[in-house]
Amino acid sequence: MTPVPSVADQRNRPLGVLRLSLTARCNLACPYCCPDVADPPGLLSLEQQLRLIRVACRLGAHTLRLTGGEPLLSEQLLPLLIKVAQGRLTPGDPLEGLQQVALTSNGVLLDHDRAHALRVAGLDRITISLDAVDGDVAARMAGLRGGAPAGERQVQRVLSGFGAARSAGFDPAAGALKLNAVIQQGVNDDQLIPLAELARQQRVELRLIEFMDVGNRNGWSSDQVLPAAAMVQRISDRWPLRPLGRDAGGTARRWSYADGSGCIGVIASISEPFCGDCNRLRVTADGHAFTCLFSAEGTDLKSAFVSDRQLEGAIVDLWRRRGDRYSEDRHVAPGVSAPHAEMAYLGG
Ligand code: SAM
Ligand code: SF4
Repeated sequence: MTPVPSVADQRNRPLGVLRLSLTARCNLACPYCCPDVADPPGLLSLEQQLRLIRVACRLGAHTLRLTGGEPLLSEQLLPLLIKVAQGRLTPGDPLEGLQQVALTSNGVLLDHDRAHALRVAGLDRITISLDAVDGDVAARMAGLRGGAPAGERQVQRVLSGFGAARSAGFDPAAGALKLNAVIQQGVNDDQLIPLAELARQQRVELRLIEFMDVGNRNGWSSDQVLPAAAMVQRISDRWPLRPLGRDAGGTARRWSYADGSGCIGVIASISEPFCGDCNRLRVTADGHAFTCLFSAEGTDLKSAFVSDRQLEGAIVDLWRRRGDRYSEDRHVAPGVSAPHAEMAYLGG
């Protein structure tokens, strides 16, 4: 196919990142996320996923993030990575334009063999999610039965996941290994300092995420949101921080520790929305495209898979019509809220 120019939406935002969910299922049940127990029918095949990624690259995507549900549950993950890696090395292939291939995982299945297999298959970055260091809180945040011992096992699994990823070549100093934590006021905000301490010891960047009103099942309320500014203040009171700012199109506002022990990032979708330069296209495991994490409905791309030209046309059409900026509108019209798709289906 001949190259086409990149697309811009109604607010002149380009397409830069494809977040592809591989499954809506998860092996944890974090109450703030509430994943489905089964996948929807009609999951994209490996071949369809590859075609979609290629088309997104032709339209300007430079980053692919594989997510879920829990992406390590998907049998298509490794074969997909291998095919993408081959394409990135093939002159003239649209996949040559991919600068980063990243994965977000809860770390449950990230053992030594898996981490090495992911690296060999061409994965560049892993972000692991963990919302507490204390066993009891970790169990509550992950929806684990079994109280503190179950939570402690999860913390240990994530720690050994870090070790496995590091030994496989995911270098935190190069941004290839990070830690995500959702902070809920009154639920795990007492874990901010322990999480920061753990990340400093591990030398991984901690990304603190405000609790978001995505989905209909997590009982979101604004009083459970700890604003990013308060998170930064608490950490800065313990270890002084210096602002680094937010990269264009990025989600995190970053800070470096004044003592040189690395960085943190805060993802402030609620208190400081960053819709203005959002460049993310989300596609669910069953091929529904969402141009906003807070959208009520997606666009089913399945019928467009008859040809790459049609698929490209469907995405161009969707992107050109895109004007959403839900997080910013929330401040203009607070309380106005349509039903949302669930986070684990959308892929976070
Ligand atoms: N299972 C993987 C994981 O947990 O990393 C990948 C999918 S998960 C949906 C992606 C990210 O979304 C995780 O870092 C998770 O903590 C975050 N997340 C889920 N529900 C959220 C919510 N309501 N508010 C903020 N972040 C949320
Ligand atoms: Fe699973 Fe990730 Fe959702 Fe937790 S946040 S339930 S680990 S998909």
